Parts: sequence; C-alpha cells; structure tokens
Amino acid sequence: MSCLFCKIINREIPASVVYEDERVFAFNDINPQAPTHVLIVPKQHVASLNELDAAHDALVGELVRRAAAIAKDRGIDAPGYRTVFNTNRDAGQTVFHIHLHLIGGRSLAWPPG
Ligand code: 5GP
Ligand code: ZN
Repeated sequence: MSCLFCKIINREIPASVVYEDERVFAFNDINPQAPTHVLIVPKQHVASLNELDAAHDALVGELVRRAAAIAKDRGIDAPGYRTVFNTNRDAGQTVFHIHLHLIGGRSLAWPPG
C-alpha cells in the first residue's frame, strides 16, 4: 500500500500521534495551520468522501465524535474550532485517504479561500 496515511497508521512513517483505537487514528498535521491542527483518519483506507457508502456511516460518526473529544481535551470546545474534509482538486485534497482536519486555537476566517 503506497498510501502515506496508511504508512503513518502502520508506523512505517513517524508521526506525532494524538489518539488511536481499533478503527480511528489521529496525529498532528506536519504543517499546522493553527495551534491545534490534528488529522483524524479511519484505519480503513477510503480515498475520499466520494467513495463512502452506508457501511461507513458509523465510522464517519466516530471520526467526527473523536474530533469533538480532542477539541474538548485541548480546551477549544467552548471558544470553537473548525472540522474539514477536503475532497478532490477544487478543495485542495492532497492525500487520498480520508482525513478530518481539526483546526483551532485561534480565530479562523470565514469563508475559506
Ligand atoms: P489535504 O490537503 O489532503 O486535505 O490535507 C493533507 C494534510 O496532510 C495537509 O494538511 C498536510 O500538511 C498533511 N500532511 C502531508 N504529509 C504529511 C506527513 O507526512 N505527516 C503529517 N503528520 N501530515 C502530513
Ligand atoms: Zn490509506
């Protein structure tokens, strides 16, 4: 498997790990855009939201709830944070293994560029 995030999950490439369980892995983004910038990924390889089906519903729920739990751990739940899935070219997706960006710890502009 040549996927970068699969290699991170398999510990073939080092990362700053934030959370791990049987289905979900979370690590700090290598190029953080805010004081908190964590990537929450399924251990199962899924390339993008375009490949999701109903069988993934519980897994996606786990990603979102894990993001909220990490935000709470970091104390950014009350001030707020952003969660983003980028999909394909126009959104700037560069790694084709689903990842939920958790970004916070500063005020974030809206709309995004
Ligand atoms: P995308 O643009 O696909 O939504 O986000 C990919 C993210 O992965 C980017 O924010 C980028 O900084 C991060 N990233 C790319 N390569 C690595 C890596 O080797 N390690 C870590 N921790 N993050 C990475
Ligand atoms: Zn992968």
